[in-house]
Amino acid sequence: MTTAESDCLFCKIAAGQVPAEIVRDGERVLAFRDINPQAPTHILVIPREHHPDVASAARAETGLVDEIVAEAHALAEEEGIAGTGYRLVFNTGSGAGQTVFHLHCHLLGGRGMEWPPG
Ligand code: 5GP
Ligand code: ZN
Repeated sequence: MTTAESDCLFCKIAAGQVPAEIVRDGERVLAFRDINPQAPTHILVIPREHHPDVASAARAETGLVDEIVAEAHALAEEEGIAGTGYRLVFNTGSGAGQTVFHLHCHLLGGRGMEWPPG
């Protein structure tokens, strides 16, 4: 791990150094329940590889973002929220509410959602 990654909470979760309720443990992607859920289903889908945000991963053109979105949809089906609808959120930058600078996709569902978001 580089210095940035050894300081990164989600790299530590991916490495098993910080506990989390893991719901998917794939080769390139894993998913775990958010510690402070904002909906009945609130799962974070992340790449094992460190990228600070979704734009960085998209630029790398490794197919990682596609994999994350596909995994989020598979989890939505497993959670029984794919039919009623769910929301995927990539907070990008502190102004948008990003607090952990390791790419993560929020999968939120199981309740009604308003638009525009806060
Ligand atoms: P962001 O605000 O960066 O888009 O989202 C970060 C998310 O990570 C937040 O929803 C927050 O609740 C979650 N989170 C922060 N620390 C931990 C942790 O140690 N474990 C888990 N499972 N989730 C965390
Ligand atoms: Zn990281």
